[in-house]
Amino acid sequence: PTTDDCPADVETLGRSTWTLLHSIAATYPKTPSVSQQSDLKTFMGVFSRLYPCWVCAEDFQRYMEKDHIQVGSRDEFGKWLCEAHNAVNVKLGKNTFDCSKWEERWRTGWKDGRCD
Ligand code: FAD
Repeated sequence: PTTDDCPADVETLGRSTWTLLHSIAATYPKTPSVSQQSDLKTFMGVFSRLYPCWVCAEDFQRYMEKDHIQVGSRDEFGKWLCEAHNAVNVKLGKNTFDCSKWEERWRTGWKDGRCD
């Protein structure tokens, strides 16, 4: 049976949310304006308080307190977000992701052409 029309569990919510967040990183400017930087900081701060998995949100807020968000460029934010995602991967016992590849995964597609 399909479960597409049921409320999202923590896994589905997480996968969808990482897709949104990494896609925001992928479209974030290489040289963002002051107001774009400020928007992203505000968005991520509010996000960390509203994320509808409360234990996840609490841990993510704590993560942001010790590892301050980087919004100076696409590359900075993309790498910061990748490290933040890796911290969750470690907590959940999942494999970590090679952050030198975040743009291939989320922006350009893989060099082998499988996304073309
Ligand atoms: P996901 O972790 O959802 O990843 C989706 C895809 O992203 C992967 O298939 C891979 O291609 C790619 N990817 C993986 N790692 C990275 C990376 N470091 N950088 C870039 N791309 C990457 N779940 C809990 O059970 N407990 C929690 O406390 C918790 N906290 C969360 C906090 C946040 C902010 C978010 C967004 C989600 C959280 N989740 C939590 C959900 C969890 O991270 C996963 O989304 C969920 O377990 C589904 O995992 P998955 O294996 O399908 O892949």
